[in-house]
Amino acid sequence: MKKNIEEFLDLVKQRNGHEPEFLQAVEEVAETVIPYIVKHDIYYGKNILLRMVEPERLISFRVSWVDDSGEIQVNRGYRIQMNSAIGPYKGGLRFHPTVNASILKFLAFEQVFKNSLTTLPMGGGKGGSDFDPKGKSDNEIMRFCHAFMSELFRHIGPNTDVPAGDIGVGAREIGFLFGMYKKLRNEFTGVLTGKGLSWGGSLIRPEATGYGTVYFAESMLNTKNESVKGKTVVISGSGNVAQFAAEKVLQLGGKVVTLSDSSGYIYHEGGIDEAKLKFVMELKNVKRGRINEYLKQYPNAKFVSGKTPWEVPCDIALPCATQNELNEKNAKTLLQNGCICVSEGANMPSTKGAISAFHDAKILFAPGKASNAGGVATSGLEMSQNSLRISWTRKEVDDRLKGIMKNIHDSCIEYGTEDDGYINYVKGANIAGFVKVADAMLAQGIV
Ligand code: NDP
Repeated sequence: MKKNIEEFLDLVKQRNGHEPEFLQAVEEVAETVIPYIVKHDIYYGKNILLRMVEPERLISFRVSWVDDSGEIQVNRGYRIQMNSAIGPYKGGLRFHPTVNASILKFLAFEQVFKNSLTTLPMGGGKGGSDFDPKGKSDNEIMRFCHAFMSELFRHIGPNTDVPAGDIGVGAREIGFLFGMYKKLRNEFTGVLTGKGLSWGGSLIRPEATGYGTVYFAESMLNTKNESVKGKTVVISGSGNVAQFAAEKVLQLGGKVVTLSDSSGYIYHEGGIDEAKLKFVMELKNVKRGRINEYLKQYPNAKFVSGKTPWEVPCDIALPCATQNELNEKNAKTLLQNGCICVSEGANMPSTKGAISAFHDAKILFAPGKASNAGGVATSGLEMSQNSLRISWTRKEVDDRLKGIMKNIHDSCIEYGTEDDGYINYVKGANIAGFVKVADAMLAQGIV
């Protein structure tokens, strides 16, 4: 078995040696899925995983735009159309200076499995740009988004590829992107998700990733007759996912003690309650400020510069910022401090070493492709509402989201329960996600 996995990974490394994040994501999947393939004749010998690691299409393009001082700026735009076996490509756009082909390929690859887990008919894709929205005026953001869409529009469509938001792409950016798409195509269609409510958006979409991450944590805790209620929760990030993860923890009776951004983390031992969270939402979403400004309003809190919050004692950890933000050392600190549950809101926030430490300690650990799938699932619900030209109520969407998160949890139990009863959610999510896509690929032949 080890030989099969090594041979496969060697081949992938030969082709993608300069893409560490992509290789990391592929390795995690290969280690759990190849043993399953070897035991199942219908998949064995068909090179399905080898086909799945090669994007169906990788688009890279120039984005030129003019900043407020009249300077011409040039950024690089991408769209990775990874796999369309079970539906149109679907996945977010990320605007961040670190964006490159490796990061987007890892995200697109993960997205294929995640979208499959939701049970909705969505293939996997991802895109974005190395554009940095920080410090830009609204007009600059608009000009950039319009320039970006003036190329992307020819590659996407409601039945082809439906992008959404991710880091650096929220409601404001989706609005500008949608405006340019509509102008160029002269049609009003569900080509992007995360839209505003008055122009085709879905209730609960902004909340969905964070809420879903906490619903998943609750399901995991329930397997141990535990719940979020009364637990101390450490959260990283302070963007879309972190904010709504915090909101749901508070609604379920937990106590949130940290939030962070790339400059460091705030620790409020007494708890970040609803009023304090509202302040953070205003600070981040409207004023576009930094997390350390929380201390101006709440001087009892602490700001720890340049560090991640994993050194703070907690029962539950929710990494909701970015990839590889929680390493093996952080994981061991969390475990020493008594953490019993980690539910990933971000994509691949835990390193390989961190995941091994969680598995060795047999704590509850959910990989992002399972626990943060609520966002794309609700995007799928937005697509359904757009096609039907109707809007479901908040409760209808939230009930569907809860149902989907529960189904994903059930799939992880089905495919991930080890002989000793421990639920390996990484294995469960990878195999459950793989099976649906692989079956579709087999049915469609070599294309
Ligand atoms: P936002 O842009 O809204 O927020 C990102 C947050 O993470 C900010 O607080 C940001 O801080 C912090 N962050 C970003 N990069 C780094 C870094 N290198 N080091 C430390 N902190 C960092 O993004 P989202 O909340 O939408 O996304 C967060 C994560 O969740 C990502 O991994 C994303 O892929 C994943 N995700 C998002 C979904 C969604 O629906 N939005 C769906 C599924 C997954 P700063 O402002 O300083 O950069």
